[in-house]
Amino acid sequence: MADRGMRRRCEAILADLDLPDVHDVRELCDVIAARQGRPIHLVGESLPADSPCGIAVRTERFDAIFYEADTSRLHQEHIIRHELGHLICGHLTAPVLDAEASRLLLPNLDPSLVRAVLGRSDYSEIEEKEAEMIASLLLRRSVMSRSRDAPRDDPAASPVLGRLHHTLVDP
Ligand SMILES: [Zn+2]
Repeated sequence: MADRGMRRRCEAILADLDLPDVHDVRELCDVIAARQGRPIHLVGESLPADSPCGIAVRTERFDAIFYEADTSRLHQEHIIRHELGHLICGHLTAPVLDAEASRLLLPNLDPSLVRAVLGRSDYSEIEEKEAEMIASLLLRRSVMSRSRDAPRDDPAASPVLGRLHHTLVDP
């Protein structure tokens, strides 16, 4: 089945990265940045209504992930994991911005430039599915590592995480 093959492919890509347990998506970005040998900048923005919730941009010197700031933390983390999926799977081959444009982009983020790159969304349907698969595999990993960290009778352990764990790890 095509979907099972894709899942195996995504699992193999993650296995190759040999990711350690991390505590949050920021740490995850740092680890993946180190593996790729190029920094990943996370930029939370109130994005225009007609744009996607997130976008990964490759420049000559770094990658940037823009994500919708005006949404729940869980949704933001999902957007970031999805965009990491595009990076990890190698969907971004050529830099979309040259050195000059990327110098403008950071540290002083120019909204018109962001809007220009946000207009781009030329992933194939398969690439979108791969990014989504990576996102859910990364979520599964983080739920598993968090539930290993938290003692079962810890009242501070989030019931939401508990339910997520139940759904994702032993459904
Ligand atoms: Zn996508």
